[in-house]
Amino acid sequence: MEELVLLGLFCNMVSTQQMHLTDGFGYSRQHQIIKSEAPQRSPAMAGKKVLIVYAHQEPKSFNGSLLKIAVEELTKQGCSVTVSDLYAMQFEPRATRNDIVGHLHNSEAFNYGVETWEAYKRGCLSKDLVEEQKKVREADLLIFQFPLFWFNMPAILKGWMDRVLVQGFAYDFSKIYDGGLLQDKLSLFSFTTGVSQEIYSKEGIGGDIRYVLWPMQHGIMHFCGVKVLEPHICYAPENVSEEKRKEMLAAWTQRLKTLWKEEPINCSPEWYFK
Ligand SMILES: Cc1cc2nc3c(=O)[nH]c(=O)nc-3n(C[C@H](O)[C@H](O)[C@H](O)COP(=O)(O)OP(=O)(O)OC[C@H]3O[C@@H](n4cnc5c(N)ncnc54)[C@H](O)[C@@H]3O)c2cc1C
Repeated sequence: MEELVLLGLFCNMVSTQQMHLTDGFGYSRQHQIIKSEAPQRSPAMAGKKVLIVYAHQEPKSFNGSLLKIAVEELTKQGCSVTVSDLYAMQFEPRATRNDIVGHLHNSEAFNYGVETWEAYKRGCLSKDLVEEQKKVREADLLIFQFPLFWFNMPAILKGWMDRVLVQGFAYDFSKIYDGGLLQDKLSLFSFTTGVSQEIYSKEGIGGDIRYVLWPMQHGIMHFCGVKVLEPHICYAPENVSEEKRKEMLAAWTQRLKTLWKEEPINCSPEWYFK
């Protein structure tokens, strides 16, 4: 059954030219979470668990193609891959009172950080958060796949960060950065841009792309103790030739083949601003 769900997703993510051949599998939007378990093939990656948090509305998009490649390649390596397809799940991005089940710690003045921390300790976070936290807890590697929106991640993904990575689960008072609670995990930000690499250089009008990565990689992942692999950036897929797009997709496949041999970056201010 799981394989069918996965196959259905793939078939809805292939390029436009192939759609007429594959529509019949009828991937349903109810199947937001895709789990694939492949037989173990390579000792290096065997049994590794990967969570891909994916934020694009359209399976036929370039981001959809990057997701498809990651699921296929990592599954082929023997990894267990789970996808949180945030738009398909209609993931709630707003951090509200609804995230706490039952009574509040302080009903006089609502403080989201305090209330979710208390609710986490009591086991009273909403079901969707508990499910996402379980996926994070089980994962060795978190991949975030998205298009750059306003020099940042799309709001739905930012909402995932805001709501899932609560105090007590991802960090605690003195347990931050290298002491964060998710130290056993790796992360990788894989995203696309609207404009070229030249624009995202120190001399370019956008400034060095690493400035954009500071809040995501350092402010969120490193803060929670998660180690950070080099980002994977596909520049301006809308504005390049079909050949160049294929090259970018092939480069992602190639990178994934040796991903488990990579060392995390030195996630310090120097990496971003020197
Ligand atoms: C609100 C908003 C804010 C934005 N802010 C920024 C910003 O701050 N900075 C910035 O740089 N950009 C920004 N953008 C632009 C955005 O980042 C890009 O539009 C996005 O990254 C493009 O990725 P995509 O997956 O949507 O591309 P798509 O348009 O889906 O894909 C590009 C092309 O690739 C084709 N394609 C898909 N799959 C394949 C395949 N397998 N083989 C070959 N071709 C394929 C598609 O058919 C399409 O022609 C913003 C956009 C929005 C909507």
